Amino acid sequence: MSVGGSSLIFLIVPEELGDTGISSLREWLRNERRLGVGHCSVVRVELRKPEPDVRKPRAQVRERARNASVAATPLLIPENGDLPPLCNRELSEAEARQALAQLDEGYVKNCTKCGLHAGRNKTVFGAGHCRAEIVFIGEGPGAEEDRQGIPFVGRAGQLLTRMIAAMTLTRDQVYIGNIVKCRPPGNRDPSEDEVQTCWPYLARQLAILRPKVIVALGRPATQMLLQTKTAIGRLRGEFHDFPPPGFQHLGLPPTKLMPTFHPAYLLRSPGEKAKAWEDLKQVMRLLGIAVPAGR
Ligand code: URA
Ligand code: SF4
Repeated sequence: MSVGGSSLIFLIVPEELGDTGISSLREWLRNERRLGVGHCSVVRVELRKPEPDVRKPRAQVRERARNASVAATPLLIPENGDLPPLCNRELSEAEARQALAQLDEGYVKNCTKCGLHAGRNKTVFGAGHCRAEIVFIGEGPGAEEDRQGIPFVGRAGQLLTRMIAAMTLTRDQVYIGNIVKCRPPGNRDPSEDEVQTCWPYLARQLAILRPKVIVALGRPATQMLLQTKTAIGRLRGEFHDFPPPGFQHLGLPPTKLMPTFHPAYLLRSPGEKAKAWEDLKQVMRLLGIAVPAGR
């Protein structure tokens, strides 16, 4: 923090930060001075009491639940013990293909890091072009994907394949993956814990693939990748930055992210297909892919 050469800073900090937080701030400013990059010599700290919460108890409970799950944030773990380091440069096609295969064969196929391994038949790593400009990310394998080990091959997958065709592309020209690689029993949403445990694999896939656009399919993928609890209906329709603000330190290449409805939802609510198509057309325009006349 260098505040225009001023030598005095008043900090008003939330009370939750506590004494430890304040001493680390002081220590940090001292270090800055030592290194000659900071000019602050006096710090006065005032603790800010939390604003009294006058909302209804139910709203408070909902908010607390939301914060609790956001706090278990999967994006906070860029490295994960035994895994290879995050790829930090653009790879050639052959290198990227090999790096993806290594991650799949050497790590994901035998992974037992979360409870989902127990019920799986096959892991579903991801499929498509290793230099794809577009990466589609769903939530997790369903029954058919679990049987075949290939993402999006069930009924929802067939719709995704048609959506990709409408974009004048084939599945081989894009990449398709999921936020968890093993099927959640009964197709339930993956839990925060499972998503967090599996995230280091997807982080590595994205660092290898370096797509220009990520299309997040449905709520779990969108909320996890953007680290938000905002409803998909409010997030879709415009590009977001990935990694989201505050997560650039992860070292993942900056990418545009378009949230859209999950094809399984579109099968249940065909009236929403037009909105999903608007989202995909925006992706096409961004990449300079011509939208067929009349579509
Ligand atoms: N739904 C998903 O989210 N992913 C798949 O791979 C299949 C269905
Ligand atoms: Fe491992 Fe991911 Fe499968 Fe869990 S879902 S067992 S973390 S590969």
